[in-house]
Amino acid sequence: MPSTASLIPQLKATYPQFAFKLAESFLWSPSKQTVYYTTDDADYGFLLHELSHGLLGHADYSRDIELIAMERDAWDKALEIAKDYTVTINDDLIQSTLDTYRDWLHARSTCPRCKAVGLQIKKQTYTCPACRHPWRVNEARICALRRSAVA
Ligand SMILES: [Zn+2]
Ligand SMILES: [Zn+2]
Repeated sequence: MPSTASLIPQLKATYPQFAFKLAESFLWSPSKQTVYYTTDDADYGFLLHELSHGLLGHADYSRDIELIAMERDAWDKALEIAKDYTVTINDDLIQSTLDTYRDWLHARSTCPRCKAVGLQIKKQTYTCPACRHPWRVNEARICALRRSAVA
């Protein structure tokens, strides 16, 4: 199996529209059009995942559910790219990463007063359909959850 580092020159050649930079963690930056990667992690799955966010034009979202859809789409795309390089991405990696997002969504969408499932009315605001209690949530960025879960 190739390492993350060995894939970089090939990816740079195939995707000249993006920059690839060594960093502390895997990250896609829409504003810089840059894929940040680390070689500590031997699993290039994350590398292809971040690249996929770029290829899919992922930049922002307005509802938490969209963030989860973007994460799932980026993994689907990563699986496609993996075929081009005859590498495989471990399905456990994908599922555990997506589970982290599902747990996160469940936690922030649960009404702190009555535990009913809330409705997201703004990017950082939920409201409870049962008891009408509103609550604010922190802003979450693409892939931020997974990175903090792994670190
Ligand atoms: Zn409630
Ligand atoms: Zn992601």
